[in-house]
Amino acid sequence: MMLMQDTANNLFEESKKHIPGGVNSPVHAFKAVGGEPFITERADGAIIRTTEGKELIDFVGAWGPAILGHNHPAIRAAIQEALDRGTGYGTPNLYALRLAKKIVELVPSIEKIRMVSSGTEATMSAIRLARGYTGRDKIIKFSGCYHGHSDGLLVKAGSGALTFGNPDSAGVPKSYASETIVLPFNNIEALEKIFSQLSDQIAAVILEPYPANCGLIFPISGYLKKIRELCTTNRSIMILDEVMTGFRVALGGAQERENIRPDLTTFAKIMGGGLPAAAFGGKAEIMDCLSPEGPVYQAGTLSGNPLAMAAGLKALELLQEEMPYEQLNKMGLIMKEAILMGAKEKGISIQVPQVGSMFSFFFSEKPVLNMEDALATQSEYFKRVFKYTLDHGVFLPPSPFETCFISTSHEGELIKNGSEIVYKAIKSL
Ligand code: PMP
Repeated sequence: MMLMQDTANNLFEESKKHIPGGVNSPVHAFKAVGGEPFITERADGAIIRTTEGKELIDFVGAWGPAILGHNHPAIRAAIQEALDRGTGYGTPNLYALRLAKKIVELVPSIEKIRMVSSGTEATMSAIRLARGYTGRDKIIKFSGCYHGHSDGLLVKAGSGALTFGNPDSAGVPKSYASETIVLPFNNIEALEKIFSQLSDQIAAVILEPYPANCGLIFPISGYLKKIRELCTTNRSIMILDEVMTGFRVALGGAQERENIRPDLTTFAKIMGGGLPAAAFGGKAEIMDCLSPEGPVYQAGTLSGNPLAMAAGLKALELLQEEMPYEQLNKMGLIMKEAILMGAKEKGISIQVPQVGSMFSFFFSEKPVLNMEDALATQSEYFKRVFKYTLDHGVFLPPSPFETCFISTSHEGELIKNGSEIVYKAIKSL
């Protein structure tokens, strides 16, 4: 391809002419860490290859989907097999049915599920469903939790919005945002107080079980159970956003690990096997309020697309067969140890939250429990670590507020080399 002879800089300049900021999602632009993004030529296993021929050990994993590594041969074969039957039909199809059955089998709280194409659509639709089912308007979300970019959810969201220091987007009507109550994560009193004031107005509480969009944060002991209890008592819908954690931290997601049964759950990323697929599901009684059974409208031209369904189904089947979660956790611990050791030898304070194949690091003396804590950490250090690692062949997420992902393809030399480079980066601070 002609394009590949160009330098990444030239290509990015050209991209900027045609695409706002040169990117199709803000965090791709590397603004939080400075510099310009590389352009990817291809990705296989745990390696990203740039148009300049550089090979990088990848800890971004396409922002979550690539738990089995990029371009997995079995997923490719499943897509190929589906491709032979057409690229999309716009009718019910066997792949969508099989994927729905698989998710219902793997996640006990899911009795029925509907397919969409992105995490944003999944959370937006789950919120509408909760409102339609309860006949209430207000929702509760937590600062730092990102649930996609629909209007009512783009309030104190983490991730890209945080990175740009502009938590609320222009273009979101105040009236929409005013139906969203934002509370600090891990604060039981704040939640109890709101429920005592507005009990019969709250349609839903939506949260990431392990918030992973302002670094990685864990719920304090009993917190998720308390949310479950408050939702049940006040007849509000508990929506667990498992777009990041679903099929990643366990086959049944964070809800399996935490033994929590939400009313509704949203999925994306891994369940699409690298293609655009997402879903929301939960109690049949609630799901049956969706059109055409019920009054809550929701639709999608590409929903249940056979290629995406085939890719996602194969990814979930592979995870179920291989059960790589122990192996992934061991690699997570290798990364954690390396980061801790680098910081210890350098004499700087660091926190390394890690669960299985997800980890992040905060330059902070105390554990980070919510967005306010995350914002108080030293993000200047992160920039330097990012730059060092990129110069030495490791791709970390280009923002201190993202979570790093490990795949099964990192096993062996790559996790060893990757952890060593990150260790050296921290020591070099
Ligand atoms: N929810 C969570 C927890 C996410 O992390 C994301 C995206 N990273 C979304 C929703 C939105 O998903 P998408 O980017 O597919 O719209």
